[in-house]
Amino acid sequence: MSERPRDSERLRDYHAKRDFDRTREPEGRAGVTGAEPRFVVQIHDASTMHFDFRLQVGDVLKSWSIPKGPSDIPKDKRLAVPTEDHPLEYEEFEGVIPEGEYGGGTVIVWDHGTYEPLSHDRQGRPVDFAESIEHGHATFRLHGSKLRGTYALTRFRGDDDESWLLVKKAEGRAGGHGAPDPRRARSVRSGRTLSQVAADDRKK
Ligand code: MN
Repeated sequence: MSERPRDSERLRDYHAKRDFDRTREPEGRAGVTGAEPRFVVQIHDASTMHFDFRLQVGDVLKSWSIPKGPSDIPKDKRLAVPTEDHPLEYEEFEGVIPEGEYGGGTVIVWDHGTYEPLSHDRQGRPVDFAESIEHGHATFRLHGSKLRGTYALTRFRGDDDESWLLVKKAEGRAGGHGAPDPRRARSVRSGRTLSQVAADDRKK
């Protein structure tokens, strides 16, 4: 059995990396939960362009950085590197993290929606989704505006860092979209590109 972190420690790593006098990212005070768990994919033009893939598990967003973004093609296995848990309100975050701050750069919300947890054990019996993440193999069906269908996240050991793969399941029907060119991609919230969000931020 895993221990649930105390609430004050829920976002300890997230808070430790950020100065909330400087960044407009959410502090994550609330733990609002709806009926169905949420997911979000953000495009983050930081020191290295990447996609941030986040799944609501309980009162946090479990997070992975995916350099190439999610694919809708089952044979394209995408490297996913775990990052710290983020607050649920982070799903809404789109804007510019100041230069010099942790993750400095522009963020857009590329896709969001709900997901169905589908994790099961080797005998095909359903298992608790949070436990399946801790055990390193989770399956889920995304209901986004762009991403649709069943995906699996599976942990493997890379050289030193913990690494995972995000893989689309073959389902015999057309899925949604795969990851776009990040510089041309538009926000599902505002329709803006990364460069438009950055330009709007400079006007503030
Ligand atoms: Mn990021």
